[in-house]
Amino acid sequence: MPRKLAAGNWKMNGLRANLKELETLAQRHSDASVDILICLPTTLITTCQDTLFDIGGQDCHTAESGAYTGDISAPMLSDAGATYVITGHSERRADHGETDQIVAAKSAAANAAGLTAIICVGETLDQREAGTTLDIIEGQLAGSIPDGATADNTVIAYEPVWAIGTGKVPTLEQIAEVHAHIRAKLQARFSDGADMSILYGGSVKGSNAADIFAVPHVDGALVGGASLKADDFSPIISALE
Ligand code: 13P
Repeated sequence: MPRKLAAGNWKMNGLRANLKELETLAQRHSDASVDILICLPTTLITTCQDTLFDIGGQDCHTAESGAYTGDISAPMLSDAGATYVITGHSERRADHGETDQIVAAKSAAANAAGLTAIICVGETLDQREAGTTLDIIEGQLAGSIPDGATADNTVIAYEPVWAIGTGKVPTLEQIAEVHAHIRAKLQARFSDGADMSILYGGSVKGSNAADIFAVPHVDGALVGGASLKADDFSPIISALE
């Protein structure tokens, strides 16, 4: 069975003062029956070593170390207390030119450092309107997941680019179609593909979470804006339990 995961992605948000949100969240979900992960800005990761939740980074370099000014390596994230890292988020693909090949190398680097990679895929609005969504997703999965991926070290996040931060959410049928397709591709390529968690991401809120989690092959969510405040993230976690 894939593990259930409620994951927050704080993106480039959060100063130390905002960590009180995690304290509030910890009080409410100290005995959660699902995994809870917060992917923090790198500056906050070390501060959170003692938190109740799993902690993740939002990107890592392909190399272990070296002359890469401003970058963060997977062993550094692990050393700081992270156990997960997001790779191939659409904001990294769009703003930093990350290709499937780079995402696969980053994911392999994450796994080599003992981190679970949350590998993101998703179509743009143009691609959806052109009817190429499943082909796009299939190509991203084939190119972005390293051969060494297992259900233990890899999570897939389906995040339609047009649903991120827009308040627009695909229909439940659209989510079901893509998640079933992802599951089929994972099972065809990996012996434990049936056990890999597949998250949905893009404008998840307390009000739509339960319906989305009821869709087959949705094993949790990768949440941006609504993960920043305990009051917003808490109902999403509860909907997954
Ligand atoms: P929103 O939840 O803000 O739409 O962001 C989704 C996302 O990009 C998570 O990685």
